[in-house]
Amino acid sequence: MYSFLENSTDIHIHCCPHINKRSTDIFEVIKFAEKNKMYAIGLMDNFSNTSGYASLVKKNFPNLNLKIFGGLIMEPPAGGVSYENAKISLEYSYFENDGAKFISFPTHHTRYIAIQEKRKLDYIQACFYVPDSGPTNETTKILELIANKNVVLNTGHLSPKETLTLVKAAKSLGVKKILVPSNNFNKTTIEKLKIHNVYFEFSYFFVSKATEVPLTHIDDESHKIKGLTLKTLKDLIEAADPKNVILSSDCGVSILPKPHLGFYQFIKQVHELGFTIEEIDYMIKTNSKRLFRI
Ligand SMILES: [Zn+2]
Repeated sequence: MYSFLENSTDIHIHCCPHINKRSTDIFEVIKFAEKNKMYAIGLMDNFSNTSGYASLVKKNFPNLNLKIFGGLIMEPPAGGVSYENAKISLEYSYFENDGAKFISFPTHHTRYIAIQEKRKLDYIQACFYVPDSGPTNETTKILELIANKNVVLNTGHLSPKETLTLVKAAKSLGVKKILVPSNNFNKTTIEKLKIHNVYFEFSYFFVSKATEVPLTHIDDESHKIKGLTLKTLKDLIEAADPKNVILSSDCGVSILPKPHLGFYQFIKQVHELGFTIEEIDYMIKTNSKRLFRI
């Protein structure tokens, strides 16, 4: 019988220590993922590079079938948007060449998100953005590093225009593997990005009840995250083409189900939208393996 979770990868789990309550922890996530014969899990954290957690697990549980990987979201508490920070993350492990598998631009400390959250002006001005004229020198150095190491560039939560500018610059610098969180984009943006051969990520969090309540994400301020309807999700996946889509749970927050259950629920919902098992396989198995080379 076909199992949604068997051989699947959830690339986006927030089970690391956090400033607000989690539904679980790293070890429990691994236990359920292994039990459900999942292929791999990716740890995401706005406060630190997660490649260290991933290597700690690998060193202590050498018999795990499950693969576990981490990476860096360049939020200020995790060292910010800095070449040195990105470079260190790529080596941060007990093993050689086993550091960050992805480098992400900020998810919350971006001008685009800070303006939506109605933050104070000095806060907004200190946030990351991509100028219309193209990335700054520091951003360019980071993109070159990503290209040289052939790790995944995650574009974070930038505006559609900034995302396009960043993707074009990344491509011209030789970045091959790009993941674009696309939950809040429209079809036009997706069609423009598609030309550049990126993968589009859609997450359970954005169709879940977690978008209905203000939550703290990076500091004391609570904010609602803009969600999307299942109908819109269907349109966006169709625009992107399932062959370019990766589904993830983005679970870990206490009000959502444990990550493997949230992921299962999401896959089921997407399947019920009319996508075939073959298309689902691309979105939860094939594409993540290709992108992260795990
Ligand atoms: Zn997330």
